[in-house]
Amino acid sequence: MSEIKHPSGKLVREDRMPHIFCPGCGIGGTISNIAEALLESGQDLDKFTVVSGIGCSGRAAGYFKLDGFHTTHGRPVAYATGQKLANPDLNVIVFSGDGDLTTIGGNHLIHAARRNMDLIVICINNFNYGMTGGQMGGTTPTLTKTTTCVYGNFETPFNVPLLMTACGANYVARWTSAHSHYIKKSFHEALEREGFRFIEVISACPINWGRRNKMRTGIDLVKFFLNQTVVKENPDPQDALIQMDTPILCGVFADEGRPGLLRSMHEVLSPKVKVEKFRGDGKIQVPETKEEEAPEIVSSPKKVEQVKIKLGGLGGQGIALLGLIMGRATCIFDGNEAVYSQEYGAEARGGASASSVIISSEKIDYPYIKVPDVMVLMAQAAFRKYKSEIQPGCTLFIDKDLVKPEDLPEDVKVYAVPATRMAEEVGRKVVANIVMLGFISALTDYISLDAVQSALKMSVPKGTEEFNLKAFQAGYEYGEKLKKEES
Ligand code: SF4
Repeated sequence: MSEIKHPSGKLVREDRMPHIFCPGCGIGGTISNIAEALLESGQDLDKFTVVSGIGCSGRAAGYFKLDGFHTTHGRPVAYATGQKLANPDLNVIVFSGDGDLTTIGGNHLIHAARRNMDLIVICINNFNYGMTGGQMGGTTPTLTKTTTCVYGNFETPFNVPLLMTACGANYVARWTSAHSHYIKKSFHEALEREGFRFIEVISACPINWGRRNKMRTGIDLVKFFLNQTVVKENPDPQDALIQMDTPILCGVFADEGRPGLLRSMHEVLSPKVKVEKFRGDGKIQVPETKEEEAPEIVSSPKKVEQVKIKLGGLGGQGIALLGLIMGRATCIFDGNEAVYSQEYGAEARGGASASSVIISSEKIDYPYIKVPDVMVLMAQAAFRKYKSEIQPGCTLFIDKDLVKPEDLPEDVKVYAVPATRMAEEVGRKVVANIVMLGFISALTDYISLDAVQSALKMSVPKGTEEFNLKAFQAGYEYGEKLKKEES
C-alpha cells in the first residue's frame, strides 16, 4: 500500500501525525489553511517563526516545520515581539487561543496592537479554555455554558474585532473554522502588509464548548457557523459581538495600510542614530547584577550529586503531586536545590501526564530533563510515550500490575511494586502515588526519609495526613523487603 502523505507535508510535521486534537476540532484545519497559504506564498520559509502560548491551539507551534516556540501562558505576543525586535528580518506568526491571547495575555495583546508591532496573530477562538477542561473565558458568549458556568455565562464577552481595531491594529479579520478559503485569503493579505495583523478564527470545540451547548459534534458546529455567519464587505466592528441569537459577523474589519512599528522607528531614528547599534553590541549599558542572598536553609544540607527524575502516568494518578513532594522535601527539608516542572497534553482527560524533578546540592543550570537517571512509570500509556527516554544506566520504578516494560536497553535496573493494588488494600486507589513514593524512598538515598515524610504531610489535604502516611509506609516496607532479598 502506498504511503499516505499530508497535502502540506512540506510544512507540516508528518512525523507528529496523528495530531492530538479531538475529532471535529477546528484547530487542525486552520493549521492546514495557514500551511497551505504559506506554501502558496513562495516566501523563504527559513525567515518564518511560529510562536504559541498554552492551550489546545498552543500546540500549533510544534506542528509546523518552521522554527517553533511553545511559550508560557498568555505570553506569546511578548516572546514574538522580542524575536521581531532582535531580528527584524523574521516574519513572526503568533498562533494561539482566545484564552491565552485575549484573556490571560490580554495586556500584551492590546499593547502590541496599539504600537502596531510587526506580527501576524492567528487567534483561535473556541469560546472556552479547552485544554484545561472547558472553563469560561473572556470570549464565552453570554448565557452559554461551560464547566465553570453551568447555568450559563452572565458576563459580556470581548468583541475581539472591536477590541483590536480600537487598539489600532493595522489589519483585523474574522472567519470561522468552516471558512477555509477566507482564512487563507486573509493570511495572504496579512503577509502582504506590515504592522499588527490579527485574524480571529471562530473555531469548533465540540468536546468542551459544543457538547455543553447542544452541539455535540464538529458537524453540528460547522452547520451552526455556516447558518449563523454573515460575511460582509467592510463590516462595522461595533456589530461584531458574538451572542447566540445574533449573526457571527465575519469579514475584514480593518485594513489601514499604515507602516509597521519597525519601519516607523527606522524612518525617525535612522537620520539621527545608527539603528543597528541597538542590536546588542554593548552600547546599552548592562547594570551590574548583585549576587542573590542565599536562602535560609532549614536543616543542614544533605550532599547529593545531581539526580534527574522523570515521573509519568495518567492524568488523575497524582504524578504531579509525587514530583512536588520530592521537590519540596529536597528544598525545604533537606536544604538542597530542586527544579520541578510538569507537562500535560491537550488530551488532559486520562492522557499521559508527566512531571520532572532535578535534585542537587549544587545550583541547577538547566530545568529540563533530556536523559533521566531515574524514571517512575505508573501506566502503560506513559511507558509507551516516554520509553525512548530510558537509556542504559537508568533506574526504572514501575507499578508492576499496570506497566509491562518491553525492549528495554541493557543495564536498566527495574524495581516493581503493585502500587495501585496496595493502595486499594490501604483503603483508596488514589494513594497509589504515595505507595510508590514510599517504595522509592526505601530503595534510594537522595532524599532523606524525614524530609519526604515532612513534605508529604504538608502537601496532602488537611485531615488525610495519617492515611497518606499509612500508604507511604506500605510502599516503604515493600521496598525494604525487596532490598533485603536482593542483598
Ligand atoms: S478540547 Fe476543544 S479545542 Fe481542545 S482539542 Fe478538543 S475540541 Fe479542540
